[in-house]
Amino acid sequence: MIKFTDVQKYYGSFHALHDINLEIKDGETVVLIGPSGSGKSTLLRTINGLETVESGQLIVDGQDVASSATNLNKLRTNVGMVFQHFNLYNNKTILENITLAPKIVLKRGDKENREIAEKLLERVGLADQINKYPSQLSGGQQQRIAIARSLAMNPLAILFDEPTSALDPEMVGSVLDVMREIASNKEYTTLVVTHEMDFARAVADRVIFMADGRILEDAPTDKFFDHPESERARKFLSQVE
Ligand code: ATP
Ligand code: MG
Repeated sequence: MIKFTDVQKYYGSFHALHDINLEIKDGETVVLIGPSGSGKSTLLRTINGLETVESGQLIVDGQDVASSATNLNKLRTNVGMVFQHFNLYNNKTILENITLAPKIVLKRGDKENREIAEKLLERVGLADQINKYPSQLSGGQQQRIAIARSLAMNPLAILFDEPTSALDPEMVGSVLDVMREIASNKEYTTLVVTHEMDFARAVADRVIFMADGRILEDAPTDKFFDHPESERARKFLSQVE
């Protein structure tokens, strides 16, 4: 589904991603961790073309992301992204927030759009909030709406960039529960940047540990947590766990 081969990414002269080699298979759940500034968000953003790569090759859903022949809008339809700040449209209802992109991009009709939105709201535990506005919901509820909005596009993959780190602690659990359900379903290829190590242990098939723009470890979850190979990872884990 996603394959990086010797990918390099620069911001001006700053070398943000070094020699990234990484393959993520269909339906896999991969958690990406590492210290602040290690390049986690940058790596995620390259996958749906929000950041360009300078050399190497990045294939997503069979398409070369850097190729001018690749339709980035289509790529972004196939690869959903959920951010720390959920950016819902405050002047639109929950239903409108979820149905807007499918209506415009996928040309989905109103009836089907509503049915899909209702199912997704059920799935994220917010069926009764369909006619409310974002400001009437808690941060955790808004983030669950943002997840439903992402799924409404029928993506193949979904990328989560620290979706719980801006939430009040009591809101985190309900969002992680939704993510856990999505990951366990194996319906989507799921890549999650998070500092929630219990969640990572519970849902990840594999853990990628990054530092200074490099992948230092790429290991099955139990192996990573029980026997991290690098000193950096051991130090990181001792700080966050
Ligand atoms: P955090 O855990 O704090 O979110 P991160 O691992 O997601 O960190 P990135 O946001 O990917 O890290 O940033 C990696 C490095 O690239 C950092 O040193 C950052 O300052 C730099 N960087 C990120 N975005 C830009 C940009 N648009 N222009 C210049 N430098 C950038
Ligand atoms: Mg980040």
